[in-house]
Amino acid sequence: MDSGRGQRLYWKQSKLHTGIQVNESTAIRMSGEKLSAHLSEHGVTPTAQRLKIATVLFCKPQHLSAEQILAAVNREHPVVSKATVYNTLKLLTAKGLVREVIVDPARVFYDPTTGSHHHFYNADTGELMDIEPEQVRFAQLPQLPPGTRQDGVDVIVRLRGDNKA
Ligand SMILES: [Zn+2]
Repeated sequence: MDSGRGQRLYWKQSKLHTGIQVNESTAIRMSGEKLSAHLSEHGVTPTAQRLKIATVLFCKPQHLSAEQILAAVNREHPVVSKATVYNTLKLLTAKGLVREVIVDPARVFYDPTTGSHHHFYNADTGELMDIEPEQVRFAQLPQLPPGTRQDGVDVIVRLRGDNKA
């Protein structure tokens, strides 16, 4: 994992920290020209393939894996290669347009909601769900190592199905 990329992402999140609602990502529900302008503003050249991928990602608040995005963009015709999907996701993450949520090395989700928030992960269903930032309170956080500043804190609450039912 490229730590420089993570740093930039967290920096963006901390900038957005105050008052943002989980479902109010600026990127959400954009399409066509607006989406194209949004990519350009963040230093991403809006090619046709990138726009296809961005349209899938930003159509609603959701958490998709690279495989799900690949399947969605190629639903009608196989137009975007796996390499392009992976490279575009890397680029969008680096530019702060999506947030990478790494549940474990084999399970990475792409989240169009880049403001500070937390997640539930259900290991039985494989589903990732948002938790509003106000719903998590920390009684204590460790003292930061010298020469560092806090760039963000994010929590994954891991779930299993309740077998009592
Ligand atoms: Zn999320």
